[in-house]
Amino acid sequence: MVFLLANVPVLERLVPIEWFREVPEVTRLHPVVAAKKDELVALSENVGIHVVITDDFRSTEEQNALYRKGRSDEGAIVTQVEGGQSYHNYGLAIDFALGAPGGKVLWDLEYDGNRNGKSDWLEVVTIAKQLGFSWGGDWVNFRDYPHLQMDFGYSIGELQRGWRPPDQIAAVKTQSPDFR
Ligand SMILES: [Zn+2]
Repeated sequence: MVFLLANVPVLERLVPIEWFREVPEVTRLHPVVAAKKDELVALSENVGIHVVITDDFRSTEEQNALYRKGRSDEGAIVTQVEGGQSYHNYGLAIDFALGAPGGKVLWDLEYDGNRNGKSDWLEVVTIAKQLGFSWGGDWVNFRDYPHLQMDFGYSIGELQRGWRPPDQIAAVKTQSPDFR
């Protein structure tokens, strides 16, 4: 039985999806992700890159509104996932863009504003990965270049069942790139 007890946290996270845990709704960015976001902005600023955070925590309602864009609502499709299926809904993801002179915001993977011969966008991604984020640009099925997330090893299914990374949790250095 000692063997089983040692594995209880893992086993509990593997129960069927309909076994929900009653947990308070997430309403903000996870504290570790929030701290890493600030670090990302500061470290990028140090190398002459102004990072603009365009999105962080997103409620289920906000996610559903985004999902309707390009489907029942006008516009282009901006997301592949409905409310509750995005790491943004659990405060574990941020989206970024680049700030340029004149207050412009750029979604340009080639822009080299600090003139060091390297893409500013990819420089930010490198710093983000060093901080423990995984990057949506590495996803194979739907590349999401502005997207950075820190899932702490929790799948969307586990989060939907009410499992939450604790507030005090160490950021993981290497993460699987193919979680949404
Ligand atoms: Zn995102």
